[in-house]
Amino acid sequence: MRKICFWSYSDEYSRLRERILSSIGNALGSGRLILGPRVEEFERRFSDYCGVQFGIGVNSGTDALFLALKALGVGIGDEVITVSNTAVPTVAAIRAAGATPVFADVEEDTFLMDASKLEGLISEKTKCIIPVHLFGQPADMDEILQISKICNISVIEDCAQAVGAQHKGKKVGSFGALAGVSFYPTKILGGYGDGGMILTNDKALYERAKMLRFYGMKDEYCSEIEGYNSRLDEIQAAILLLKMDELDAQAAKRQRIAEKYSTGLSGVEGVKTPMTKTDRTHRFYAYTICAERRDALKEYLAERAIETKIYYPVPIHLMKAYEFLGYQKGGLPATEKLSERILSLPLYPGMPEDDVEIVIESIREFYLK
Ligand SMILES: *Cc1c(COP(=O)(O)O)cnc(C)c1O
Repeated sequence: MRKICFWSYSDEYSRLRERILSSIGNALGSGRLILGPRVEEFERRFSDYCGVQFGIGVNSGTDALFLALKALGVGIGDEVITVSNTAVPTVAAIRAAGATPVFADVEEDTFLMDASKLEGLISEKTKCIIPVHLFGQPADMDEILQISKICNISVIEDCAQAVGAQHKGKKVGSFGALAGVSFYPTKILGGYGDGGMILTNDKALYERAKMLRFYGMKDEYCSEIEGYNSRLDEIQAAILLLKMDELDAQAAKRQRIAEKYSTGLSGVEGVKTPMTKTDRTHRFYAYTICAERRDALKEYLAERAIETKIYYPVPIHLMKAYEFLGYQKGGLPATEKLSERILSLPLYPGMPEDDVEIVIESIREFYLK
């Protein structure tokens, strides 16, 4: 039985191998290994692509969010509203800044932040809202921005899973005061190691975030503000630059696979396929269904060598590490209900069509049994 991987970059690597190796060679021979001309070119090209004025290459998506919070001056005693069904890094970044996460429940049909819940969560201490464009679909930025304006609260977008996705014709990363992007290998634009970027249209925030990534320095060896070390290296920038050439083409492949899944699984009783709101585009970082008898289905697929994932099995507010926040089971009903049903299917740009068929057939079989 051939294994169907959840994610793989082997097809990409064999296709781009020569170009990747030669770009690494050029970077290594250039005499500049970190924060050099490749990083600067990548910052320009990527921020341009997102329709944003400034980009700051950093070490990871987590750091991008952390430094964005620091650039806004968010710290101890402040509250940051986000969602509980996200990757832990969103919350880890808030905690690293010293602030307290406050969780908004989500919309059951899109898995995204429920903007109607925000007003009830805003307090004197609220400094920032971090919507997560989960699985590749933008959150409702109209509603979220409107509330943030009325209450004078900043917005940082977590774009880690949704690079290039649009809401009403505008790309994610261009809505908030700042945005954080991840170039972790599995992401929409993945490097061959860690990497991330802060995006902003605000010159003052750009300058502050840029100093924060390098010990708070503007000039050599002299810190203007207290800073950190979070740098992007020339090798990653070189690889990411060449992968930008095919970013939209690869994302379109994700969309085609998602369409195939949705067509193939339509009408299967027990499965709800993911929905995309009509005013948005979806990048399908993950193709996530809601499944009856989810755990049995996962097991059934595993027996057929089909790898699936639960994004995410335990909502963050119920994780051991975050018990101290004081949330109880039942505190976020939609988030908790979804966590028992969601299942993400294999999906990556180079996934063979036959494999998609096999996954669809196996799921159909399971529910016919
Ligand atoms: C991957 C991810 C991050 C963090 O990115 P890293 O580069 O792994 O630090 C943040 N938020 C979300 C939603 C993610 O999926």
